[in-house]
Amino acid sequence: MGIDVQMLRLIFFFAALGSLFVCESLVHTRPWEIPRVKRWIFHMAVSIFNTVWTRLTVAVAVLAWLRVVENHGWGISRMLGLAGVVEIVGTIIVFDFFDYWWHRFNHLVPFLWRFHKVHHTDTHVDVTTTLRFHPGELFFSYGAKVCWIFIWGPSLAAFAIFETGITLYALFHHSNIDFPDRWEKRLRLVHMTPRLHAGHHTVSLRTRDGNYSTIFLIWDRLFGTLREPDFEELKTLGLSEGRATYLEPGVFLAAPFRGNADETRRVK
Ligand SMILES: [Zn+2]
Repeated sequence: MGIDVQMLRLIFFFAALGSLFVCESLVHTRPWEIPRVKRWIFHMAVSIFNTVWTRLTVAVAVLAWLRVVENHGWGISRMLGLAGVVEIVGTIIVFDFFDYWWHRFNHLVPFLWRFHKVHHTDTHVDVTTTLRFHPGELFFSYGAKVCWIFIWGPSLAAFAIFETGITLYALFHHSNIDFPDRWEKRLRLVHMTPRLHAGHHTVSLRTRDGNYSTIFLIWDRLFGTLREPDFEELKTLGLSEGRATYLEPGVFLAAPFRGNADETRRVK
């Protein structure tokens, strides 16, 4: 991937992060109980750390793997002879489908939940929550992408566009904003929305065990996991555990290795 693509991704990322910060400041839907600056400092530090180590290791490996798959002509996309815009759109749809199942498995499989729960221990979901992932979860998700690349065989351009798109969508649906019902209804014809994704971050298991989609809402509709969060459920976000310590670096890093994963996964 050339430097231009990396730069472009970075520009899109900061433009979206900045715009959503402004939107949240003007029309936030949930009040913050702690100064926002604390959340920004902690989550930006996590993001910078994760960006540096992944760029130096697993991201490089995944790009090298993409070249290997390309050189061998592996993958359904190449078997079908897809190219140009069709291949890019196909990759976005198929990888978003894979991503739905990967996210769902992160909730279903106790070992994966140990890492993914770190994202869910945030008690105030806003745009900075998008930056909050345990390094272990990122390591395993790059492993999952190695499989997706082998199965589908995307071009480098399609893969880069998908990666950028999924980041922008994640920033959007984690943000502390909400739309009027008629807009919400229209958005839901295609997309995951901030209201539905806040439902995925509730302590309540009813809605937390649903709304797994990142870009297209069709996956939740198709596999019966679309959950309409009610007002009461949206009042308590995060998990029952670790509510007072979710911004402590030591607790953040050690969380996957503590406690009984299956218990914490099922606790309301
Ligand atoms: Zn989740």
